Amino acid sequence: MTRFIFITGGVVSSLGKGLASAALAALLQARGFKVRLRKLDPYINVDPGTMSPYQHGEVYVTDDGAETDLDLGHYERFTGVASRQSDNVTTGRIYSDVIAKERRGDYLGATIQVIPHITDAIKEFITSDLHGEDFVLCEIGGTVGDIEGLPFLEAIRQLGNELGAQQTMFIHLTLLPYIPTAGELKTKPTQHSVKELLSVGIQPDVLLCRADRPLPENERRKIALFCNVHRDAVIPALDVETIYQVPISYHEQGFDDQVCKHFGLDAPTPDLSRWHDIHTRLTKPEGEVTIAVAGKYTGLLDAYKSLGEALVHGGIANNVRVRLKWVDSEIFEREDTVQILEGANGILVPGGFGERGSEGKIRAARFARERKVPYFGICFGMQMAVIEAARNLVGLDKAGSTEFGPSQHPVVGLMTEWMKGNELLHRQSGGDLGGTMRLGAYECVLKPGSRVHQIYRADVIRERHRHRYEVNTNYRSALEEVGLVFSGMSPDGLLPEIVEIPDHPWFIGVQFHPELRSKPFDPHPLFTSFIRAAIDQARLV
Ligand code: GLN
Repeated sequence: MTRFIFITGGVVSSLGKGLASAALAALLQARGFKVRLRKLDPYINVDPGTMSPYQHGEVYVTDDGAETDLDLGHYERFTGVASRQSDNVTTGRIYSDVIAKERRGDYLGATIQVIPHITDAIKEFITSDLHGEDFVLCEIGGTVGDIEGLPFLEAIRQLGNELGAQQTMFIHLTLLPYIPTAGELKTKPTQHSVKELLSVGIQPDVLLCRADRPLPENERRKIALFCNVHRDAVIPALDVETIYQVPISYHEQGFDDQVCKHFGLDAPTPDLSRWHDIHTRLTKPEGEVTIAVAGKYTGLLDAYKSLGEALVHGGIANNVRVRLKWVDSEIFEREDTVQILEGANGILVPGGFGERGSEGKIRAARFARERKVPYFGICFGMQMAVIEAARNLVGLDKAGSTEFGPSQHPVVGLMTEWMKGNELLHRQSGGDLGGTMRLGAYECVLKPGSRVHQIYRADVIRERHRHRYEVNTNYRSALEEVGLVFSGMSPDGLLPEIVEIPDHPWFIGVQFHPELRSKPFDPHPLFTSFIRAAIDQARLV
């Protein structure tokens, strides 16, 4: 039997509902259960693909090519379960599906309404595409009380009613603010938030209360009394040192016990050795390296969520702390690159879109190449490194990317057709922006004897993509002559997936996003190797 756990949030946004859901899933998994995580987003966009990283943070891409909410990244990092297209839905997607059905006449002339048509579509989403999971954890985006969230709350209320308490559970995440003048953690916002939930017919079974200090027994009992839950079902969620400590902390507070108790499950205590090991490595590192990340959206680090985590994972693998220095690449266009990058043990240019800041990234790549500092170029970061080599090594001063307009030497350009397995896929320039990218996992064949071949210890790899432009193979031989190696290609040999410079301590550019597959307990080999190279660099200076 699949049980459904619904996670809602109240009081304020940004309480870490995604992390809470992921950590609970990790605990249930550690008790031997098969878990799945899903996110229901109330906004009207059909998917987050076209949303600005400044507003919504990173777009997380799944193997099957869905552009999803960044919380799905937390889910994968905490459980190792690969997310799918069917794990994230928005109001926009639900409505567009329902409207398409209405246009086809599927509803036989009925008047289409929020209840039951929209709520039915939401319930259908929650309960479809399951594969013998013991638990499906559904996080509802937004905060209780938002207008957009109402149909989702109504849908989960209905499911709770239809499936019963033995198959459904409601968890509500709230905040207990500390008021210094009173010297107390305040429970009133939590009481109000629960009242809001009750007004749409949902009585939470467990309250997860974020607080920056321990919850006194008195306040705990008060919350239980006013919110109509058992005292043991009021779980303090205290701030912790690292996000990977959250499962440990939740378990200590009895969170997973409460869930098992609710469902009447007699499960063994979880084996948390994996999380203890990660916590020790993070809090007792043997050294430190500094990585400069030259990006564009450095004002909102959520835009690079998976990247930041993957770098931390590289540190876990090597037992070092990774200090990240976020640099807005535009600064290299105004100030001295050398001075800003001098102390970095590694330079990473991440994915990005648009011309702004691109010249700065090209300068950062040049600095790394010439000064022999480890360089990791991801997607846009690979494209900029190739443009840099074309300009400064091949001598094509006008080398550029057609992403920025027509170019005399388009070393990066738009491909309009490519193969995915045996299927020919097309892309139109000037078409709709949504859904025009090369998305999802693609195979890549590694060149025997290359650095990436040694790093991956595999001949063929699969990595996730999200981009429109590709390195133009017309310039391949010119670039190879000056020392670049095309060490990873698509199976048909048409699309360059990896370039490297062998005559350099560590210089690798990849067209895909390896950060999306890295996990704290299974760091991505490229990040492990990059941080290793940074350690070597630190020893040399
Ligand atoms: N803007 C580039 C492209 O579309 C790179 C995208 C990215 O870095 N994800 O190809």
